[in-house]
Amino acid sequence: MNTLQITVVGAGVMGKGIAYSCAVSGHKVYLNDKNEEVLAKSKSDIEELLNSSFEKGFLQKDVYENAKENLKFETDLTVAAKDADLVIEAVLEKMDLKISIFQQLDKICKPEAILATNTSTMSPTEIGAQTSRPDKVVAMHFFNPVHKMKLVEVIRGLETSDETVQVAKDVSTSLNKQAVEVNEFPGFVTSRMNCLIGNEAMNLLMEGVASAEDIDKAMKLGLNHPMGPLELADLVGLDTRLRNMEYLYQTLGEKYRPCPLLIKYVKAGRLGKKSGSGFYDYN
Ligand code: NAD
Repeated sequence: MNTLQITVVGAGVMGKGIAYSCAVSGHKVYLNDKNEEVLAKSKSDIEELLNSSFEKGFLQKDVYENAKENLKFETDLTVAAKDADLVIEAVLEKMDLKISIFQQLDKICKPEAILATNTSTMSPTEIGAQTSRPDKVVAMHFFNPVHKMKLVEVIRGLETSDETVQVAKDVSTSLNKQAVEVNEFPGFVTSRMNCLIGNEAMNLLMEGVASAEDIDKAMKLGLNHPMGPLELADLVGLDTRLRNMEYLYQTLGEKYRPCPLLIKYVKAGRLGKKSGSGFYDYN
């Protein structure tokens, strides 16, 4: 596929990973965040990952140098998005926030630009309906850590065109990932399954059935999961996981009721790996 100008909005856990993957695949990338400190931290994290991947021989010299040249960091959304062919939004899992960003992007971007959301659970139809280009709005759900995970779920909203779905799949392939196409429904395929497994692991922990270590060990050795559900929730971020659960609870009902232990941890500021503690201690 041709080199695209890709803008990633939100430079948190996912945004920096998506920006890295796009840059090492030869695309030109703007990473945007409204928070200067977050953007500076993401810049240094991406540079560290580029350097270590190059030193370990995972990146060729030309790819490494191109990626460094192709990546720009920008707090002003207009500067970051005005020439974009594709925007991938990766801000917090809050519908109002996502809609407000898509409305801004709709005004800023070229009419032919495709606007994608990296939402884990929410409706690209609802987001697209608030723009003048619902046919060009799609969800591209990446996985954490983005540079290692091979899947992108491409979620088709009600008005998403075949052409937009095809571009989302082609971009995923260009990032050395495989796409699966999913018709919109809350939580798609992966979040719906994963949130339920994670929530049940939290319920087991809360009920004192087993320790966090043993729950994770049981799932890894007994059910062949590569990571335990509690380790995975810590990696995702417990605030993000709670928002996912709340949305699934609202839309799909009782079986997605967030575990009270998850709510308690988020209230305490234990957000998982990114805050230094969650179900495990990272300090
Ligand atoms: P995060 O909290 O790490 O990052 C969100 C970023 O958005 C923050 O840096 C924040 O400053 C920025 N932001 C907020 N408002 C903004 C605005 N108006 N303009 C620009 N930036 C803004 O969150 P995350 O874990 O990266 O999740 C982002 C999205 O990706 C969510 O929709 C989430 O559900 C989804 N997702 C997360 C994971 C995961 O494992 N964490 C996996 C797949 C998908």
